[in-house]
Amino acid sequence: MNGYFDHNATTPLHPAAREAWLRASEKHWCNPSSLYRDAGLASQQLEAARERLGTLIGAEAERIVLTSGATESNNALFADQLVAISAIEHPSVRMSARNAIDLPVNADGVVEPDAVMTLIAAQRPALVSVMAANNESGALQPWREIAALCREQGVLFHTDAAQWIGKLDATSLGECDFITGSAHKFGGPKGCGFLVLPAEDSRLNFIRGGPQESGRRAGTENYPAIEAMVTALEALTPRLAEIETAQSLRRDAFIAAMRARFDNLRVISEAAPRLWNTVLMVMPAHDNLKWLTRLSRRGFSISTGSACSSGKEGSSVVVTALGASAEELKRVVRISSGWDTSAEDWQALAAAFGEVFNELNQGGRPQ
Ligand code: PMP
Repeated sequence: MNGYFDHNATTPLHPAAREAWLRASEKHWCNPSSLYRDAGLASQQLEAARERLGTLIGAEAERIVLTSGATESNNALFADQLVAISAIEHPSVRMSARNAIDLPVNADGVVEPDAVMTLIAAQRPALVSVMAANNESGALQPWREIAALCREQGVLFHTDAAQWIGKLDATSLGECDFITGSAHKFGGPKGCGFLVLPAEDSRLNFIRGGPQESGRRAGTENYPAIEAMVTALEALTPRLAEIETAQSLRRDAFIAAMRARFDNLRVISEAAPRLWNTVLMVMPAHDNLKWLTRLSRRGFSISTGSACSSGKEGSSVVVTALGASAEELKRVVRISSGWDTSAEDWQALAAAFGEVFNELNQGGRPQ
């Protein structure tokens, strides 16, 4: 049994990524900026990996800056400009886009293109940022429509696609001016990711020093991690449609099994199109930490909203944005499965929720 249901926090390394990392570390460990032949080979491999990543996300390789992950990418982008961000963005967007204008979400936790239009007309931000898929609820955001609308209006558009890439087809993402991605969300290593920029952008500078990444982000490139990241995405991409079909059925069966066990279970963004792997629920009773620790004892790993929500257990950006009470917030749990989570794993999780409930409540259904 695989009880790991926290893939939105991080994923295990994909076997193909592990192989790629080892091969790259053993064969191409030279500094890509050095001038001898072996360094040149490492540099060529690195640029080939950038091209391959570009193909996978529909963006020219020249637009890609390789970074240490989504947090760095988001921090680099939101420096001193008037931006509008959605109310459900990840803390790495919310905390770095200071003085941002808030874009509201509807009752399903989705940013409506009309709301973006209204905001652009009233305030004309330099940049609009709406994530592709929400890390807590899994709600898919209409980023494609919003990107088109922003283009029409002459406003730049960024999407944090950390939770979309590796779960859904990413080949149209290049239509956005800026894209954030993170390897460890899709079977790549931790500490590796990217920011895609418009080809003509000459403004953004991430880290000063050497000439790496066209002088934007200095520091010796982590070629083995980059190779592993790209290989993981190449391995997953052809399987995504098949994974989505199989896994969304398992997720829905889990929700049905939970409803059979619990009255008053609220699934956040249930009416919205969602990632095939994510269920954000407000449990009918008991604090989420009690659920988490007792499930953990039974071998299941789940989370309470977002792992990164300011370190405060029980805080959920999404459920807060939807206007929940402080008491409801304490009952939020997030389940996020992986590419290979089986129907049995999901069933075992639902059964474990039932056992924990009995333990916490000494039997009976919650009021
Ligand atoms: N954005 C989103 C939407 C995320 O889910 C996460 C990870 N929780 C991040 C950014 C931060 O990613 P990283 O760990 O690569 O810094």
